[in-house]
Amino acid sequence: MRADRISALLVALGLGLTARHAAAFCRTTTCSPNECQPTAGCSYCLDGGLPLYWPGGCASFSAQVTGSPLRGISGALTGELVKTALAKWIGVDCGGAPPSLALFQTQDVVCDQQEYNQDSPNANVWMYRDDAWPYGSSSTLALTTVTFNVKTGEIYDADVEVNSLQVPLTVGDVAIQADLDSIVTHEAGHFLGLSHSCDKQATMYVSYQFGETGLRSLEADDTQGICAIYPPGKDVSQCSPIPRHGFSIDCGVEPEEKGCCSTAPGGPSGSGTWAMGLGLSALALGALRRRPGVRAKAR
Ligand SMILES: [Zn+2]
Repeated sequence: MRADRISALLVALGLGLTARHAAAFCRTTTCSPNECQPTAGCSYCLDGGLPLYWPGGCASFSAQVTGSPLRGISGALTGELVKTALAKWIGVDCGGAPPSLALFQTQDVVCDQQEYNQDSPNANVWMYRDDAWPYGSSSTLALTTVTFNVKTGEIYDADVEVNSLQVPLTVGDVAIQADLDSIVTHEAGHFLGLSHSCDKQATMYVSYQFGETGLRSLEADDTQGICAIYPPGKDVSQCSPIPRHGFSIDCGVEPEEKGCCSTAPGGPSGSGTWAMGLGLSALALGALRRRPGVRAKAR
């Protein structure tokens, strides 16, 4: 398997010293809006549950090899965009040192499904939906689904789907519509464990306006968020690029096909799944929670 470690080259891009302000960032937790109340300060933050994080500060990602033929965006370009976006997050300044994060780009994958295989190899895939957007609202630009251990908050897997069917994605600085760099940088925050922020300047704010590029750069609130999840000073030199249960370029085999006995998310294995989207401006799109047989829009 080929894996390239991302180096923290983009240190403090556009960050600098800014006035301190009350933290508005939110970490994604194991708790659902049905079980936990929003905090007093921000409706996107839930008061309770265990915050999610990549164990050891180690994570890997792959681009889906096909990319988006509909929008003329290759898998290779997607991989570069994601790598650049994640480098922004690991390159922030947490008070003189970077967050304790090590991220690896694994080779492009064939699998184009959001999935987590509980007993077979995985990949953390960034992919497009050119043919159908199965998540209801056409104003949802992208969706990051995170699978985690409900007892610890450890992230097992994260997959990102971009709504290329309905969203006029653009790359670069000419005739910008839905700026893919902005979308990817926002979803990268979800990928790493952040929920939506109530700071309207933050990249992790819930909405996006066509033509804008402001989400490309991280703001002070985003920095505080990533530094809270992965405080500096921990040794990540031993991190492995291998996803949980190994790496596979192909999708997993359905339990029925294996004739085996996998448990469903939320079952005895103790894993849960969250999906978070970036919506169009002024639409209050929040988290979707998916459980077997239930698909409900939380807010
Ligand atoms: Zn979002």
